[in-house]
Amino acid sequence: MKRREFLQASGAFAVVGSSLFSIHKAEAETGLPVASLKAGLDPQRDLVLVAGDASPSRFDYNTSFNKRRQITPQVRVVASSPQAVGHTVRWAAGNGVGFAIRSGGHSYEGFSQSADLVIDVRGMASIKLAADKKSVAIGSGASLGAVYAALEPSARAIPAGTCFPVGVAGHALGGGFGLLARPFGLACDSVLAMEVVDASGNVRNVSAQQDPDLFWALRGGGNGSFGVVTKFNFRTSAVNRVAKFATTWNRPAAQAAKIVLAWQDWLEALPPAITCTLHLTKAAAGSIKVHIAGLSVDTESKVITELKRLQKSAGAAEMSSTSTLTFARAATIFNGGGPAYESVLMKGKSDYIVEPLTGQGISVLLDGLQKAPGEIAVLFDSYGGAINQIASDATAFIHRGKTKYLVQYFLQWGSPGATETNLAMIRTLYASMRPYVSGRCYVNYCDLDLGEGYAKAYWGDNLPRLMTIKAAFDPNNVFRHAQSVPRAIV
Ligand SMILES: Cc1cc2nc3c(=O)[nH]c(=O)nc-3n(C[C@H](O)[C@H](O)[C@H](O)COP(=O)(O)OP(=O)(O)OC[C@H]3O[C@@H](n4cnc5c(N)ncnc54)[C@H](O)[C@@H]3O)c2cc1C
Repeated sequence: MKRREFLQASGAFAVVGSSLFSIHKAEAETGLPVASLKAGLDPQRDLVLVAGDASPSRFDYNTSFNKRRQITPQVRVVASSPQAVGHTVRWAAGNGVGFAIRSGGHSYEGFSQSADLVIDVRGMASIKLAADKKSVAIGSGASLGAVYAALEPSARAIPAGTCFPVGVAGHALGGGFGLLARPFGLACDSVLAMEVVDASGNVRNVSAQQDPDLFWALRGGGNGSFGVVTKFNFRTSAVNRVAKFATTWNRPAAQAAKIVLAWQDWLEALPPAITCTLHLTKAAAGSIKVHIAGLSVDTESKVITELKRLQKSAGAAEMSSTSTLTFARAATIFNGGGPAYESVLMKGKSDYIVEPLTGQGISVLLDGLQKAPGEIAVLFDSYGGAINQIASDATAFIHRGKTKYLVQYFLQWGSPGATETNLAMIRTLYASMRPYVSGRCYVNYCDLDLGEGYAKAYWGDNLPRLMTIKAAFDPNNVFRHAQSVPRAIV
């Protein structure tokens, strides 16, 4: 049998023919040279999902946390290697195709979404603990939950956020606060090295020794502005048993304001082993619910002593509990939402508190919460400890030094028809707080309402150095979104 006859008989022509047909179809649907994109990728390991592709996985990959900002790209490349990312970056730059980089998809403003191309790093999600357990190599597509689970058997952890589906990449590149932050710092503070695909599609190993400027910029300024991080090497910390605590008051606004003032004072002398959050919501019958919760890497008895110190000035709480458990168990409890990926209509905003809020500032906040027709949640994250011991210019993450805590305003709703009303509601509360706050904001709670002032609000005095590094490593602004680091004018 001749080769041609054999191929015909075995059906190989039909396969080649159908894949050629699907490429032609993809090119016709997208207007993009999909064939040359696919030619540089590994068909067995890299996934290319294109418009017109009926595969359900095309839409599964789209799901992101903020449904309000979710869009479907013409092409999504779920890359399995830095080389696949490099080829895709070169293809995009060569063909003038804009793109976004996606890890866990939790960007509040959908900066990991693009109508054109998404470079999706979820094909690189391996987690490998070093033999001495002091560091861990993590693919940039891993979720925080996967990282905690992988480290649990060795009683190690990285300090990072509470929500399991959040991607390690978007989280650590913008800072990364969690309930181990005061003893061990932010997620970005434990990063030892990164593998990064740059604007030319080349793979760089970035650390304090190699490309130190890029290493500086990526820790706090890295979300989608300098390259595609494909792998992290994190320092791990020994964390076995932790003390967990929670305490709640339901009080009329005037009394709730006194509890918030007491919490601010309490924080000043809180041991760095303890990290906590304060959560304010509107409760029934015109009162405010104040919920304080956190973790300590020290003993439960020291937590109880600290809670007594708080209640001495805040007054006795309705509910107060402490327990000792493994960090992994505590993380699971704080994650709360279970393993399912949540996708909601939402808006978040933030403020850093550098000077403690005045009584008047707190009253304005609580009054605004009560008057808002919807259920806005306000969360305070305690800074200090290891976060603030690092100099504000040692990494791109600037909110250290005298920073007391971070305020987040958060609102989610069910119906798209309610979007404008809800956006107006949270904007009103945020506007009322302008006289009382620093004007600085957290890049991981990105907020398009910041307008042109976003870069100063996120990076403050670190902005000029970030812009210079941007101009050096990405002069053509290949890595960009609505709030990426602008280039310095050279
Ligand atoms: C439910 C929820 C809970 C949260 N909890 C916390 C918390 O406890 N503490 C906290 O500090 N923050 C928290 N956040 C904020 C979170 O840290 C940020 O939204 C973070 O940017 C999400 O990262 P991601 O990879 O999931 O998101 P993505 O949307 O995938 O990415 C976010 C940004 O990072 C960029 N990016 C993604 N991957 C890469 C990469 N490989 N290389 C370069 N750039 C990349 C994207 O382009 C985008 O600009 C929470 C957010 C949500 C929605």
